[in-house]
Amino acid sequence: MHIGHGLIEGETILKLLRVSLLAGGFCVLLNPVQAAESAESWYQAGQNWIEGRQGTADTKPQARNVILFVGDGMSLTTVAAARILQGQQQGQTGEENYLFFERFENLALAKTYNTNQQTPDSAGTMTAMVTGVKSFAGAIAVDQGATRGDCASMDGATRVSLLDLAAQSDMATGVVSTTRITHATPAALFAKSPERSWESDRGLPPTAVEAGCRDIARQLVEYDVGRGIDVVLGGGRRAFYPSDWSDPEYPDIMGHRSDGRNLITEWQERFPAGRYVWNHEEFKAAMAADSDGPILGLFQPSHMQYEFDRPDDPGGEPSLSEMVTASIELLQKRSDQGFVLVVESGRIDHAHHANNAWRALTDTIEFNQAIEAAVGLVDMDETLVIVTADHAHALTFDGYGVRGNPIMGYAVRPGDGPESERTMRDHEDQPMTVLNYATGPGYRRDDATIDFRTMDPLTPDYKQKAGTWQYSATHAGEDVPVYSIGPGADVLYGVVEQNVIYHSIINALPRLKQAEERLRDASGLPQWDGVTRNDSGGD
Ligand SMILES: [Zn+2]
Repeated sequence: MHIGHGLIEGETILKLLRVSLLAGGFCVLLNPVQAAESAESWYQAGQNWIEGRQGTADTKPQARNVILFVGDGMSLTTVAAARILQGQQQGQTGEENYLFFERFENLALAKTYNTNQQTPDSAGTMTAMVTGVKSFAGAIAVDQGATRGDCASMDGATRVSLLDLAAQSDMATGVVSTTRITHATPAALFAKSPERSWESDRGLPPTAVEAGCRDIARQLVEYDVGRGIDVVLGGGRRAFYPSDWSDPEYPDIMGHRSDGRNLITEWQERFPAGRYVWNHEEFKAAMAADSDGPILGLFQPSHMQYEFDRPDDPGGEPSLSEMVTASIELLQKRSDQGFVLVVESGRIDHAHHANNAWRALTDTIEFNQAIEAAVGLVDMDETLVIVTADHAHALTFDGYGVRGNPIMGYAVRPGDGPESERTMRDHEDQPMTVLNYATGPGYRRDDATIDFRTMDPLTPDYKQKAGTWQYSATHAGEDVPVYSIGPGADVLYGVVEQNVIYHSIINALPRLKQAEERLRDASGLPQWDGVTRNDSGGD
């Protein structure tokens, strides 16, 4: 009886829905959402979501600090496989293990699509998380009112980031990434650009220079909100040096700047108490020196090493855990008004693009360690910690492996016979690994230079098999997990649009909320009042 009644009710709802859709007219049916979409609508929807979840609660959260951890490309499958790998490294079967952040009490799923792309890129998704509005693929803190690659189209479309709000409020600010610091995810915090690839002036087309656009490295060094950024740690130093400069660690690599500027010298002149470091020894010495000046660490000409390869780095570089620990210690000294720290484990994504699950998972485990270190250093009564991914990757985890099956190995069914007989095989009698990819360079081509069919899947350079060949694996469009803990975290549950993450942070930190309110115009959207373009053109 009960079930029957529920079915009738469902049918009635469907009928009502159809009637109301038809009443809305055919154009609404064809493109029901996009017609109404704008920066204002994304922003308002994010605010409404949080207000709805907050309800009539009269005690608003009072967080002082926020740490946003972004595992680039860290899909749910990545988390499940990394949890098992970590457990197996500790001598367990693995499945029963939890990563540290998996024990956070709040969990949501975020829809990651860009305004123009079903499966997103990191620029548009990070823009959603740190400005509160979804945007297009390639967008660095500009909204969908701008056009990719068109400098002049940014006018009126540049958005205020979490970092901007914190810097304006005299809070301490930090950006940490294992990628180039000018790469899409970190860039969305301190730069405004309609094109993610404008990392140095070499990447800027002449039309953009004429229209007064500045490259992302330059925007980092010239960042003029408040006292500037307190902590910047990552890779990518080549974008800061002129083309006649040779890298101290890899002398064959030259600077990327065509304008002849040395942005590191400029940064040092701007911050006489600041410390620039480029290797592990200098980093450790700077942190031990007990100075409270800002720090800029750029540990590779391009991206930092994967955690697995880090011990072999010629110049030596810190781990993500070390960078996070040092950042929090310094941020706590830089301001007594709290801090905003954003940490990206950026190379989980790169390893997935290469179909190399080993490095994706070992970077995820190090990311987890950095999160555990951070939580141990802060007062959790006043710190909101959010762990999420910008988008997923098409790593798959399948077969019917026995409990404790090595996660990197072939899928071996439970049973008593010899392992070779229990190993799952495809139609060509090839053994099947537990982890595979939907797309990427691991597709078994006959013209491949390395035949991964003959390589042991337990070796670190192994590429898992891909179903469809792509030079570089594509991102995936599935939802990503959002784990959170601390004051204000309890609004992050259910399935959310990704820009809701920004609004949950603003809701939790009164200081950011006040800064945002000062910048709001009649539309209700906070307006960026900093430099976007040089009026004089490309100086
Ligand atoms: Zn990617």
